[in-house]
Amino acid sequence: MSPNDSYQDKEDILSKTSIKEYIDKNWSECKKSGSGYKVLCPFHDDKSPSMHINDEKGLYHCFVCKAGGNLVQFIKEFKNLTYPETLEEISNFFNIKIPKKNYKPIGEIGLDKKMFDFNKKISLYFKRCLSDEQANLKPIKYLKSRGFSSQDIEENSLGFAPDSWDSITKMVQDKKELLNIALSLGLIIKKDGKEDFFDFFRNRIIFPIKNRQGNILGFAGRTIGDDKAKYINSKESEIFSKRKVLYGLGNFNKLNGRKPKYIFIVEGYTDVLMMNHFGLYNVVATMGTALTLEHANEIKKISNKVIICYDSDAAGIDSSFKNIDPLFQFGIEIFTLRLEDGLDPCSYLEKFGMDNFIQRAKKSNLIIDEYINYLKDKLIEKDLSINEVVDNFVSKIRFVQDYIQRDEFINKFSSSFSISKRKIESIIDNEFVKSEISSQKHNSNRLLGPEDIILKVFLEFIDSRDIGIMNKCSKIFNNIFHKEIIDIIKINPEAEASGVIGSIEEDATSSMLSDLVFTPFDIPNDRQLRGKLILDCIKRIELDSIKDLKRLINLRLSKDGELTDKDEKELLNELKDLIDREKQLQ
Ligand SMILES: [Zn+2]
Repeated sequence: MSPNDSYQDKEDILSKTSIKEYIDKNWSECKKSGSGYKVLCPFHDDKSPSMHINDEKGLYHCFVCKAGGNLVQFIKEFKNLTYPETLEEISNFFNIKIPKKNYKPIGEIGLDKKMFDFNKKISLYFKRCLSDEQANLKPIKYLKSRGFSSQDIEENSLGFAPDSWDSITKMVQDKKELLNIALSLGLIIKKDGKEDFFDFFRNRIIFPIKNRQGNILGFAGRTIGDDKAKYINSKESEIFSKRKVLYGLGNFNKLNGRKPKYIFIVEGYTDVLMMNHFGLYNVVATMGTALTLEHANEIKKISNKVIICYDSDAAGIDSSFKNIDPLFQFGIEIFTLRLEDGLDPCSYLEKFGMDNFIQRAKKSNLIIDEYINYLKDKLIEKDLSINEVVDNFVSKIRFVQDYIQRDEFINKFSSSFSISKRKIESIIDNEFVKSEISSQKHNSNRLLGPEDIILKVFLEFIDSRDIGIMNKCSKIFNNIFHKEIIDIIKINPEAEASGVIGSIEEDATSSMLSDLVFTPFDIPNDRQLRGKLILDCIKRIELDSIKDLKRLINLRLSKDGELTDKDEKELLNELKDLIDREKQLQ
């Protein structure tokens, strides 16, 4: 729900509704399963009911596509409604009165719209500048040289920011509100300490960056002058965050609602657009950053498979491996497509055509095969020791959710390096808290880590929410989602799980939270035992972080000749302290 509604309002509304009833009547009948219900998931191409419903808690969760949340989130996604429209739907369906004040999109929601509108206006301006072809032969020439047709330019609203310091500044400088919006979007910049402004994008080809709804979140600008920075992006704002946005999603509507079997991840803007040019719309790129969990979450909503198609040079291969962790965490299968002769997707498509490209894509390699070969090379070249190779492999593989797949990867690895499978499995097991759930053959194969277990206890047992312990958790949790959830519980210490979910603005976080609620784990009913469980988990987290630090120090110590005696002594002291702390905890 909107963060602006009071907590009590949200609880009131949700307590008068039944998520099961809504889904029964508006989608498909929920069937009893265990203590809850199951229904076909409307958010992915579901063959057997994968969506779990807990009507008592008012929550849903799909273990396949990770959709999850409360009734408001369900309706918003299912019917593609805005927040006020969703409240209206609830009010009508359940015949309950919802105070009018809740309808109003207030605060940030209103500001978002103003920002989208302003970006749209500026995008039209950039577009006009580009179409003024006489004056701007150079940008048009560049785009044509990259293979863009006039239709591509038009459809993607490509534009041009003129070589001027004040084209946008002039538009807004006398209008206080617009000036502030332009500033917060980073389209104009304030000169140091003065009430004086200048344009951010100058002499650049402009690529508007859109979300799936088609709103413009920000821009990318490619220089056509001799600026050292080839590409620059709008600055981070309320509506634009590089760690969340994927370039290319704005064109997914051209798939006409079809769920693609896989999504291509390519290196840059022009790769996306050229693949679009050849009729492939299931393509995204990050904006010069590594792929994040938020990106993986966006991808997971659309498909379970990705094909990474980066350059075949060492840099391209390295960056494709960086994508493994977040994608595996969301249970996404990863393939890589390395094109011959250093061709990128555009040049390959131009040379061999789309059918050939698709055939080639179907023969993509599993990324794990490439990764094992890569580790082999590193071992042979003595860049990595065998222990580091195992560590590297385990750190990736521990995120693979599918047990059969994980087993297959471990088999491959153990035969490539002649290390026993048992050994690798025991290392992986050590990374998790030993728990009963693996034997409980449920729909979730996820093993809960210590952070997960703590959060699950806090979510389900309000009387376990000790503020001192929660503060400690905020400090020691490593993962941003875990941190975010604990912070929300701290603010709403009386909220039930569905209320906590309602206060979350990030899809990725609410999905992770509903996953936690629906992943089975036996929490003791006795309050004291629960307290003990939490303390055990905290100890586990602390021990793990000591283990990581020790590994790091040992790694540095193992690099002979690179350390001065003083450094070495300091490291040994640190190591000794860590070992002492470890002993105290154990
Ligand atoms: Zn689903």
